[in-house]
Amino acid sequence: MMNELQRVSDVRAALGEGPSWNAKQKVLYWVDIHSHCIHIYDPDADSTRTIQLDQPVGAVVPYDDDYCIAALRDGIYRVSLADGSKTLIVNPEEDKPNNRFNDGKCDPAGRFWAGTMSLIGESKTGSLYMLDNDGTITKKVSDVSISNGLGWSPDRKTMYYIDTPERVVWAYDYDLETGEISNRRTVVTIPDGEGSPDGMCVDAEGMLWVAHWGGWRVSCFHPETGERLREIRVPAERVTSCCFGGDNLDELYITTASIGMSDEEKEKNPEAGGLFRIKLDIKGQPTDAYVSK
Ligand code: CA
Repeated sequence: MMNELQRVSDVRAALGEGPSWNAKQKVLYWVDIHSHCIHIYDPDADSTRTIQLDQPVGAVVPYDDDYCIAALRDGIYRVSLADGSKTLIVNPEEDKPNNRFNDGKCDPAGRFWAGTMSLIGESKTGSLYMLDNDGTITKKVSDVSISNGLGWSPDRKTMYYIDTPERVVWAYDYDLETGEISNRRTVVTIPDGEGSPDGMCVDAEGMLWVAHWGGWRVSCFHPETGERLREIRVPAERVTSCCFGGDNLDELYITTASIGMSDEEKEKNPEAGGLFRIKLDIKGQPTDAYVSK
């Protein structure tokens, strides 16, 4: 049985994104790309702590007790959870000042995958990268427009990926040992009139939960049939991403955005930019942390 969707945290983000669950600390990391900050939501205390950065931040993932890993405009950084000080790990796009990092996530081997997009609306200037455990970075997909959602199947044999303007979810054969991806195919097509796919996550049964940018919802799709199994309506047009959290990994956190709305639209959609949560009757997979070796 599904409970009601509720808004949690009183933060109203411009471009809320990139949720990841830190199971050890029992907190949700998420970002506001345009406000250059990482929010840390503690559901037990119902409180939010904010780490202010100096540039757009597209994604944040757990690392250890003291640091997280974040994909910023100028590269991938290790960021102190105590004071927000940051250390560059690598910037694979020093030659592309008009790009920034966008969504990212760790794979089940603890490698950090993150992709880029143009800051000025160019098509196919982005890429998807993999930061390996030893700190080396490899370009895995080229000619990407808006690199977004990522996820892995529970059997770790498939990787899912979204380049938003394509309006589909791709699957790749995935090699856990090496991080190699191959054999790209389309497994989900977003129906017309329901916006575009943005962030995503995969539940413990392998179903795909996809946020609809411009579509007022998160949908759950079967990756083999492409069929929609259910949907969660969200009181914000721009639904950006989702992630399972909570003690039992049965709570879906959903991020949204308020950018691009007129003052009148913002008044009509007072919850746009909020962080939402809904308890479900299924479980997610844990958020994988970055592992350095
Ligand atoms: Ca996104």
